[in-house]
Amino acid sequence: MNKTIYLDNAATTPTKPEVLQEMLPYFTESFGNPSSVYSLGQQNKQAVAQARERIAKVLGAQANEIYFTAGGSESDNWALKATAEAYKDKGNHIITSKIEHHAILHTCEYLEKRGFEVSYIDVDENGVIKLDELEAAIRPETILISVMFANNEIGTIEPIKEIGEIAKKHGVLFHTDAVQAFGQVPINVKELGIDMLSASGHKLNGPKGIGFLYMKKGLKVKSFVHGGQQERGRRAGTENVPGIVGIGKAAELAGETMAERTAKEVELRDYLINRILAEVPYARLNGHRENRLPNNANFCFRFIEGESLLMWLDMAGICGSSGSACTSGSLDPSHVLLAIGLEHEIAHGSLRLTLSDANTKEEIDYVIDSVKEIVEKLRNMSPLYEDFVKNNK
Ligand SMILES: *Cc1c(COP(=O)(O)O)cnc(C)c1O
Repeated sequence: MNKTIYLDNAATTPTKPEVLQEMLPYFTESFGNPSSVYSLGQQNKQAVAQARERIAKVLGAQANEIYFTAGGSESDNWALKATAEAYKDKGNHIITSKIEHHAILHTCEYLEKRGFEVSYIDVDENGVIKLDELEAAIRPETILISVMFANNEIGTIEPIKEIGEIAKKHGVLFHTDAVQAFGQVPINVKELGIDMLSASGHKLNGPKGIGFLYMKKGLKVKSFVHGGQQERGRRAGTENVPGIVGIGKAAELAGETMAERTAKEVELRDYLINRILAEVPYARLNGHRENRLPNNANFCFRFIEGESLLMWLDMAGICGSSGSACTSGSLDPSHVLLAIGLEHEIAHGSLRLTLSDANTKEEIDYVIDSVKEIVEKLRNMSPLYEDFVKNNK
């Protein structure tokens, strides 16, 4: 194959041509500031309002509960820091999981340095949060539970409805980082009891640098970026109109195509998983077998280094990841793989492949053949593997 096979859609996605098409006029002829009174500005105010409505519809929310941000990380920071600030009179305790994205975990560490206490709840071997441990961690001073909708590395979908019920029962706010799940699995914030939800454009075939935070009406949470009165006084700064139009269109498309698109992804994903597990010795699947994102496959191959595997795959024209794009380059094994109970040595040999409906079976066949070949080659160079084979004769 002489083209690139892109299997890293959890890191980022290409902007769909239909999305780009809708965005383009807002860079040039329709450049007005939505806050201006003349019609060049007002038509952009309309475009922002339409994007807000499109997103609200996909989430079962109201348009005035959607606040645009500069991406998933900002939404996560806002949800945690502003909730901590707004509810500190009620208490200083936050509950999250051990497998969150660093946008959550590092924000929690920041809050811990400022007098907040954070409980990090364990997950089981499939990466599912332990609900009994979660409920037991709630104290009178608990103000927020933040648990991701679906994990970005191993794809496990968390029991969001149950968490929403527990939060409600104890009068605690519930935030979910849905950056990976939004557009991939059906989400209705009212039915699931979600008070706040983060999402990002570039994980959704939309542009980079745009995201949103859903905040249920009535929350006390204040502005995170101070300045003008944009976003109903809760997020200052002249609106990123092209980006907002882009994420609105991307959300609408994702909602409309979800059933068909994800059915195709699931078929390809399962084909990939089944063949890798059957044909590569000492391979393991990470994450829940069924309850996982439709496009996520995550493996560990004993006796090899994930980074070497990625380099060889790149030479074969295949883009994959060893876990999270944000941790590659560091030598520590993934905190998610350690949290599901893997030993350091095994966690080092991980490979995440995240598909899209643009992938073909032919591509997946080529990927499987390449993985088989490269894993065998790397193992044949490994003294650990040599010892293992000797001892198991
Ligand atoms: C990518 C990602 C983020 C960060 O989103 P950005 O828009 O890149 O800032 C946060 N959480 C999860 C689960 C992600 O996958």
